[in-house]
Amino acid sequence: MRLLPPLAFAATILLLLPFAPVAQAQVLGEEHRTEEEIEHEFVQTRTCDPDGLIQSPCSFDQQPLPIQWNSNTVRYVINEMGSQQLHPDDDHLTDELKHSIIESFETWNEQECSAYEMVYDGTTTERFPGFDTDIDPEDNINLVVFRDDDWPHPHYHAVALTTVTFRPSNGEVLSADIEINTAQFEFTDSDDDVAIDLRNTMTHEVGHFLGLDHSPNHTATMYFTAAEGETHKRELHDADIAGLCHIYPEGDEPNLPDGTNGAGTDGGNRDDNGRCSLSGQGPDQGLIMVILFTLAAICLRRRRGK
Ligand SMILES: [Zn+2]
Repeated sequence: MRLLPPLAFAATILLLLPFAPVAQAQVLGEEHRTEEEIEHEFVQTRTCDPDGLIQSPCSFDQQPLPIQWNSNTVRYVINEMGSQQLHPDDDHLTDELKHSIIESFETWNEQECSAYEMVYDGTTTERFPGFDTDIDPEDNINLVVFRDDDWPHPHYHAVALTTVTFRPSNGEVLSADIEINTAQFEFTDSDDDVAIDLRNTMTHEVGHFLGLDHSPNHTATMYFTAAEGETHKRELHDADIAGLCHIYPEGDEPNLPDGTNGAGTDGGNRDDNGRCSLSGQGPDQGLIMVILFTLAAICLRRRRGK
């Protein structure tokens, strides 16, 4: 069973339970943020609904569950079709496009205060985000895909979207997939005549991929909006680096709230020979997908001709 993201609903964060209602997520109030988050202006992705029944606002005394990977090494793949909106003369992923995407991940990888690393693992024919419960978690891919032809999330008028699947029992991320809305927005991947800059967008999405929510600092990569022509999110702000290194500090394995650490999936390539089922794992049978509604861009122009 491949879980698919919801097709509607507008919010900062949404949850989808497989075959269950979807509801709007809360924005964490300052009372739910740690002193470190407030001081350094980052926010880790969290949920106040670890049972995954319905997403409701955090009550004042509720402790939100952080959502993060349980491994310091996570692999990702890129859809082999690339984007004909960006590179009309090529019907497959070009080296330039691949380089821009890898650079966006590397910007986070190169931070020395963190042990966390995202590793490029080639291309895939897979086009859809989500988590396949019919195969081993380690065989699920983490996907980057361009949506040239249509944007399958009509109520998310966003330039890109990151879908995260996690275990509600301990917040462990099992899968993260990034979709780029080239169907509705004009992207560029060079320094000239910049429209929606690919690396500006991708570097922000990678922050969601690894477990960061939006920063309150308007100059941070993880700030929730971007102006047309903007490129400053290609480089990380101190707030972004503080968030990364808080979740995945150098010298430590990741620590999940239930005490497990460092033994989780790293999101490897799909291998149909390695099937196993997640059934029988109690509360984790109902894996949760979070849609990180991202970069609600300011002054964006529609893609020409649309
Ligand atoms: Zn975002």
